[in-house]
Amino acid sequence: MTTNEDRQPEHHAFEADVSRLLQMMVHSVYSDKDVFLRELISNAADACEKLRFEAISKPHLSADGSEPQILVKLDEQAPSLIVEDNGIGMSRDEMIDALGTIARSGTRAFMERLEAAKSGDKAELIGQFGVGFYSSFMVADKVDVISRRAGHDSVWMWSSDGKGSYEVVAVDPADAPARGTRVVLHLMGDAQKYTGKWTIEKIIRDQSGHVPVPIKLIEKPGADAVQVTDGAALWTKPKGEISKQEYDDFYRSVSGQYDEPLANVHFRAEGRHEYTALAFVPGSQPFDLFDVERHGRMKLYVKRVFITDEAELLPRYLRFIRGVVDTSDLPLNISREMIQESPVLVAIRKGLTSRILTSLEKMAEGEPETFGKFWELFGAIVKEGIYEDYERRGQLLKLARFRTTASEDATRSLSDYLGAMKEGQSSIYYISGSSLAQLKASPHLEGFRAKGIEVLLLTDQVDSFWPTNAGEFEGKTLKSVTQGQADLDDISSNGSDGGDKSEASQSVLDFIEVSRRILKDEVADVRVSTRLTESSVCLVASEHGPDRQLEKILQGAGRLQTASKPILEINAQSPVIQSLAAVTNDEFREDAAWLLLDEALILDGDRPKDPRAFASRQARLFALALKQI
Ligand code: ADP
Ligand code: MG
Repeated sequence: MTTNEDRQPEHHAFEADVSRLLQMMVHSVYSDKDVFLRELISNAADACEKLRFEAISKPHLSADGSEPQILVKLDEQAPSLIVEDNGIGMSRDEMIDALGTIARSGTRAFMERLEAAKSGDKAELIGQFGVGFYSSFMVADKVDVISRRAGHDSVWMWSSDGKGSYEVVAVDPADAPARGTRVVLHLMGDAQKYTGKWTIEKIIRDQSGHVPVPIKLIEKPGADAVQVTDGAALWTKPKGEISKQEYDDFYRSVSGQYDEPLANVHFRAEGRHEYTALAFVPGSQPFDLFDVERHGRMKLYVKRVFITDEAELLPRYLRFIRGVVDTSDLPLNISREMIQESPVLVAIRKGLTSRILTSLEKMAEGEPETFGKFWELFGAIVKEGIYEDYERRGQLLKLARFRTTASEDATRSLSDYLGAMKEGQSSIYYISGSSLAQLKASPHLEGFRAKGIEVLLLTDQVDSFWPTNAGEFEGKTLKSVTQGQADLDDISSNGSDGGDKSEASQSVLDFIEVSRRILKDEVADVRVSTRLTESSVCLVASEHGPDRQLEKILQGAGRLQTASKPILEINAQSPVIQSLAAVTNDEFREDAAWLLLDEALILDGDRPKDPRAFASRQARLFALALKQI
């Protein structure tokens, strides 16, 4: 029983660690003071959760039947901000223990790092941490905590100005809530904004929108309580109880996108690491998809308290995925740097990535149309994984869909490709460039078309990088049709194609010999082509090094100082070439060789080396032709 003698305040000194922490808190320029509210709400929610749990075995603790709730009360006049919960509450001893010492190892580690940090980095460090109850003293010059342990009669008040000591005193139970804790912040002069209704509503929604206890706001003494959040953390509900509408709404609130998601992945991982994930494949491209930073936006919650959306919960090539991961395996006050290094995060990233890829595989099989849409939106991003994620390369290659010479909808998989390979074909052929039209018109494809060999048509920027990197798929090398020898001779044709392409007349061989000399500063070689059937010429890259498209991109980005010289290939069967070769006039041959090189450049989407020289050569040729007419 509480007697009058008990109501004499007891004075206590803070444990040395607490004093140091408070010192640092008050004297550092804290970049984001708003987080104090997140901490108090999180404590209030924890208290409600604890009561929920204890009441399972002791139903009388919550016998009054009141639903758990968190009340935030504002008073502009005082000025004060109160966070009140009807959770488990604290007894006198619990209060002294919980609010006078630092029991948590997280805070201790934080303080050690803070001590070690250079003074300039301190503010930064504090900003990255949640610092629990004591963060109240960033905005309050006095804090009162009035609490009644569930099932107890007595009520105690803890008070402190955060300067080395606190006092504990019994208060009249008649003045106190029936159960739970009321934290009263007497706000500092420069923290008045925390009595503003809109400010507080926004902070609550942003920071604590998914706390699993409803939060209500009383904007001034005497006003009615207005519910700000409903306390439902959607991801914690069983899948079967969640409607599509609820999933979609949640997706919109978590992503800030207003489309309909293509799919969701919702699961609870149990075992070594426990976490719940609810992730969405968006139905449209997020605005920052192609930013150089390549940031993801998955939100990390710890025990339903939002921690950060900057933890790399997924590899970059899945950065378009939106949603939340909630784990109880991390401390609430973990810093971002520590999150990144944490083995828990590594395990989550691995598990989540697998689940997402598996569900994409299922989508590809079961809902090819949705998958097609997905690939249209995000295929270019997923392909980054082929050269970034060595471990999952095979899996990603299997997922990938392509436009090919066999189908211009991006629906062909590499497995489809393998199934359609010709006898004797040992490579997967591709051509990459910036537009489909340009690729389709490329002379390099002619020989492949004539033999009915499928070629992947790659038009995404990333396509210039991954094929060289991936090397092979199921034992077949990926080979650019603009690079090296075409070795088409070994591959059996559809039947129609005739003759040996590499057979050339002596005059053509002579012409090639001469051209090689004329063009020696521009090309590495001039040779008979096996890949052309209609065009007279094309340029190819040498067997080793980047293909033509990659080389252009690297050059454009200033990443390649000296471009290697291409090889000029000549179609020995072309009537034009045969007639040209028959003319042995030196000046004519010189013009012809240069014009053929320019023609090949133009076919590649490039410009003639020297436009003026090109024009005069063409004029000379026209003059000759006109004499014949
Ligand atoms: P943490 O929440 O990480 O334990 P805090 O500094 O936020 O660290 O809180 C310290 C302790 O104070 C809590 O662990 C809890 O025991 C107690 N506490 C704080 N707020 C409340 C509350 N509203 N109800 C019950 N206990 C509380
Ligand atoms: Mg806390």
